[in-house]
Amino acid sequence: MSVHIPSTNQGRTINFPQRQRALINGFCRVTKYRPCRVCKKPDWCGYTADEQTSICMRISNGSKGTSRNGGNIFHHNRLFLVGNPGIVRNQVLPPIEIAPIEVRNAVYQELIRLSPAVKYYSQLIDGPNGLLSRGLRESDAQNYGALPRTHKERAGLAHTLSKFLKVRIPEYVGRSTHAAIIGVPGFCQDELGNLQLWSRDYNMPLLVIPYRDTQGRIQACQLRLHRNDFRPGEKKYRWLACPFPFRGASSSTPIHFTFKPADLPQVKTVIITEGALKAETLVSLRPKARVIATSGVSCSHAEIVEAARSYNALIAFDADYKTNPAVARQLARLIATREQDIAAHHLETTTRIVTWQRYKGIDDALLANSTLEIMTILQWYSALGDRVLAEVKRVWDVANYRPWISLVKK
Ligand SMILES: [Zn+2]
Repeated sequence: MSVHIPSTNQGRTINFPQRQRALINGFCRVTKYRPCRVCKKPDWCGYTADEQTSICMRISNGSKGTSRNGGNIFHHNRLFLVGNPGIVRNQVLPPIEIAPIEVRNAVYQELIRLSPAVKYYSQLIDGPNGLLSRGLRESDAQNYGALPRTHKERAGLAHTLSKFLKVRIPEYVGRSTHAAIIGVPGFCQDELGNLQLWSRDYNMPLLVIPYRDTQGRIQACQLRLHRNDFRPGEKKYRWLACPFPFRGASSSTPIHFTFKPADLPQVKTVIITEGALKAETLVSLRPKARVIATSGVSCSHAEIVEAARSYNALIAFDADYKTNPAVARQLARLIATREQDIAAHHLETTTRIVTWQRYKGIDDALLANSTLEIMTILQWYSALGDRVLAEVKRVWDVANYRPWISLVKK
């Protein structure tokens, strides 16, 4: 059988039935015509366009490391090359558009309802690193979901949620050519139409942490991997978004609100921290706290500044900045951006920094009844160690932010 694939100026003929390869970030997905060289399966795995590297989602034995999406990296030598790499033209498919917030919220709510964290009580709730040990209340636990550890179980969940979406929001489903649910970050679909939710097999179920918007709707979710499921240096928290080489929407890096700003009269104080789970733990330990969280100290500064603009802010980032200049730089950048935004908007809102001793996160410090100290920006700056202080000063100089001058003027 012969397939004719038109290219820019000439036709090319290949001698076996082969679909056009979908190239995402330089990676192709395996198909039944070009299965994975490692596990021999026709789905979930990927390979580089030059056929030199495979990313197998199933087999880790003998791999050279883990890819960003959690797949296992295998390098092949040239003798391993088969097929007709020179004659297949790569086709770059357009990115999948992210589903509207109403669709994402409905699907993620249903995901948490169908697969709640409490289903894995001993692993995710009352175990050594469970939600209760962090300081969350039993009643908070129902706000979290869990992804089953096997990709087979998750495929079943993806299928059920796709059917749910068709019934719940038929007008959205009717619009798309692919399975509509893949517009919801975390869901993907292979060439054969099989749906999946996240990737590969794990040793333990994964905690699903919702990131809620100003109206309490779930915009995106993060996953927390069990410590047996990531290697040193790898990230414990990942955005639930379809990893390459599969097709799916990106989650971006939204911020999380523990409250609805419309309900909170202006000129009250909000706490800014990193990580939705930490933010919720803070509220659990201090129920009057109103918290906004970024997914990390370097992420979403503009969104945080805008969200906290009308409030006094208590910045409570992890204590790593005390020893790590790179982290301090990000924190200094956020402070300068916020202060310059306040000046530009002629606001009177204040910015203070919360510090504590010994513990990394404010939730750990609170849980241990450690004393929290609230500092002005200059007090915080003066208390920094030399190396970190030099870094902060450098960032502020570049940003043309000079808190010591505004202090003199007042
Ligand atoms: Zn494979």
